[in-house]
Amino acid sequence: MRYALISDIHSNIEAFNSVLESISTSNVDKIAFLGDIIGYGPNPNECMEKLREVTDLVLGGNHDWAVVGKTLADYFNPYAKAAVDWTGEVLLDTHKKFLVQTKASSLLDGFFVAHSTPRYPEEWMYIMTKKDAVDNYPFLERNVSFIGHSHQPVIIEFEDAQDINVYREDKMALDPDKKYIVNIGSVGQPRDGDPRSCWVLFDSVENSVEFMRVPYNIEAVQEKMREFDLPKYLIDRLMYGR
Ligand code: ZN
Repeated sequence: MRYALISDIHSNIEAFNSVLESISTSNVDKIAFLGDIIGYGPNPNECMEKLREVTDLVLGGNHDWAVVGKTLADYFNPYAKAAVDWTGEVLLDTHKKFLVQTKASSLLDGFFVAHSTPRYPEEWMYIMTKKDAVDNYPFLERNVSFIGHSHQPVIIEFEDAQDINVYREDKMALDPDKKYIVNIGSVGQPRDGDPRSCWVLFDSVENSVEFMRVPYNIEAVQEKMREFDLPKYLIDRLMYGR
C-alpha cells in the first residue's frame, strides 16, 4: 500500500490543492490527514470541503478542537488566537459538527497516527528534544508512528528505549526491527525554512518514507489574508517557511 500522509493544512487552499495534484501523480492508495485543517489561513470552508471529499482518515488537531470548543485556546499566542476566533465566525456548522467528532490519534492499518504525540495525544505536546522523544518510547503501539503539529519534518529512529538517531533525509528505508516517529511536516505553513508545502509518501511494502516538497502560490494566500485582516505576522511567515 502507498499512503499519502498530510498534516497542518491550516486553511491554506492553494497549498492543499498543489499537494493534492502532487499526490494524484504518485500512485497513492489512501490519503490520511493528521490534523489542523483550519486556523491561520483564509479558506477554512474550502479546505474542509475538499478534505472531506478526498481523505480516508481525518484526525483533529489543537486548532480544529479550539475552534469548536473541544480544547481550550488559552495557551495560543495572540496571532493564533486571532485566527481561531476569525475561523470560528466564518466556519459552517456542518464542518464544526464534523470536527467535534474527530479523534486526536488512531491506528491506520499497521501503523499509528496522531496530531501531536503518541504519549497523551490530546495534550498537544511537541517532540523537540531527545528527552521528548525518549518519553514517548513506551507509548509506541506500532513500529512506525506518524505525527504532525510542529510543522518540522524529521525522522526519529529508536535503537532502543534510550538511544535515538535523527534523520532529515528526503527519502529513507525504515529498518523493520526498529521503531520510528516520523514528523510529516506541514502542507499549509511549513516551519523548517523551506516555504514549499510538505507531504509524506509512505510505502508499506518497501517500508520507505519519502518527503515530497511542492511549491504553491504563496502570494495569492497572503493577498486573501490581508483582505480578511488576519495578523501580519501570520502573513509574512508563509514566504520564509518559519
Ligand atoms: Zn499546526
